[in-house]
Amino acid sequence: MNNRIIDGKAFAEGLRRRVAAGVAELMSSHGFVPGLAVVLVGEDAASQVYVRNKAKQTVETGMASFEHKLSRETSQADLLALVKRLNADPEVNGILVQLPLPKQIDPQAVLDAIDPAKDVDGFHIVNVGRLATGGAALVPCTPLGCLMLLKDRLGDLSGKRAMVLGRSNIVGKPMAQLLLGENCTVTIAHSRTRDLPGECRRAEILVAAVGKPEMVRGDWIQPGATVIDVGINRVERDGKARLVGDVAYDEAVKVAGAITPVPGGVGPMTIACLLQNTLTAACRQRGAKLAS
Ligand code: NDP
Repeated sequence: MNNRIIDGKAFAEGLRRRVAAGVAELMSSHGFVPGLAVVLVGEDAASQVYVRNKAKQTVETGMASFEHKLSRETSQADLLALVKRLNADPEVNGILVQLPLPKQIDPQAVLDAIDPAKDVDGFHIVNVGRLATGGAALVPCTPLGCLMLLKDRLGDLSGKRAMVLGRSNIVGKPMAQLLLGENCTVTIAHSRTRDLPGECRRAEILVAAVGKPEMVRGDWIQPGATVIDVGINRVERDGKARLVGDVAYDEAVKVAGAITPVPGGVGPMTIACLLQNTLTAACRQRGAKLAS
């Protein structure tokens, strides 16, 4: 593979192997198997695929997987009652409620009900606060995966000018916090930012998470910059459906020092980081320290 291309698929495979080794070590040293509970409400097709992949990869690392599939009509009270049971279950170390939820359920109320120690998505306000204040947070999986790819490629990020394009609670904001934690000089851009191309061109690290197909053009990128493309956009080209990122890859790959492709870049990192977070949560809950 071209050395400019950051191979998220290969990195995620390596991370899953390291998680599996950690799980094996926990079993032999502390005699327990970490468990991840995933809750799916309704029949959203994309969510069903994600949940199936999560369960498969959880089992492949040697962890226990608990799937809870609830009907689309489930009430908020019933979902909160399930979350309460999972919070109290010692075999469950991580809880993930798949979003989006049906209209009758307030997603924030559900996320707030998850025990922060088991919040492997890192969306609970306690984990958001810990990330912002430099505490021991569980960190949202997608930005955590982006940071791992950046550190693997660049080593020390200290002092680098980083631009995060997008300010959502699940990607943009936690990504900016992580980069700040690595001593980058961070700019966050959004739909009201003036001169977006000019702002992007100043960045040595550019993370694009906007959800707009190929919005970032090649001439927005500083020559040699490292580009992380979080976007996953389904478009039709020549009568065929295909996935593209938020970055115009064919242009960007000629300018960037390194870039993640779509698919095969950030995407595979998300579930691998979920497994890593489950192992981290399990170790913290049991006071276990891994040698590896
Ligand atoms: P959101 O829609 O929640 O946020 C998009 C952000 O982009 C907002 O902050 C918005 O600004 C900003 N934005 C939108 N349009 C523009 C524009 N024209 N110029 C500048 N900024 C703009 O998206 P998410 O953060 O949830 O997701 C972003 C992308 O990442 C999507 O393609 C999604 O599919 C993908 N994704 C991939 C994941 C993975 O790889 N596993 C996981 C999660 C997301 P404002 O706040 O001003 O409205």
